Amino acid sequence: MARCANCNKWSLFTFPSEGLCPNCSNQFHFEWDQYIRILTESVKLVNTSRKADTRLSRAKLVLEKVADMRALAEQFGVLDYHGSALSSQKEEIEQKLQEITTSEIEHLKDEAIKKSEMGTTLRGKTGPYAKYAEKIEKLEEYISDKSILIMEREWAKNQIRKLEVEELKKGAEKAAFKGDKKKAIDKYKDALFHIKTDEIPDEQQANEIEKIESRIRELEA
Ligand SMILES: [Zn+2]
Repeated sequence: MARCANCNKWSLFTFPSEGLCPNCSNQFHFEWDQYIRILTESVKLVNTSRKADTRLSRAKLVLEKVADMRALAEQFGVLDYHGSALSSQKEEIEQKLQEITTSEIEHLKDEAIKKSEMGTTLRGKTGPYAKYAEKIEKLEEYISDKSILIMEREWAKNQIRKLEVEELKKGAEKAAFKGDKKKAIDKYKDALFHIKTDEIPDEQQANEIEKIESRIRELEA
């Protein structure tokens, strides 16, 4: 005698597969096979698509489907059906997600640096870093370790600050050259304000601060 794990129906004979009666087994496998189809297609795209967006969204879909398959198995009372296969699929995709997001961050960062270097105005130079910070925000849902994103955002912000300081210093020297000391001092003080209020510890910028302060003293003399 055997009892169906799902509907509790008794049978004189043992059930051939995973303890389900033929009826429940059909139903279960019908749904399971649909998941397998989505899973197979998605895993393929994770590995072969050229678009990071597609790879990421498909990887996330795989993780969702794996969870759904577990829930389906649980619902049918066959809790551990292909349990270890699902676990290794989940691990593999989580690993992939990490690889894809890491290389995507590197790619976006390179792109920001190159575009900034080509910029001719302050806006043109800082814009790519602002955009970079925005773009990596979109990766957040795929990244479990959020500290990477926090670090990258800080980095972008500091790149912008540095460029702004450079611009102010250039403006200050231009004003000094034209004999407008008041304007020059004002711009140097703005630069100092930028440096002292950024996230980089002042000690690490002591050299820079000292240079600007002594230039201000020179101009004030
Ligand atoms: Zn049944």
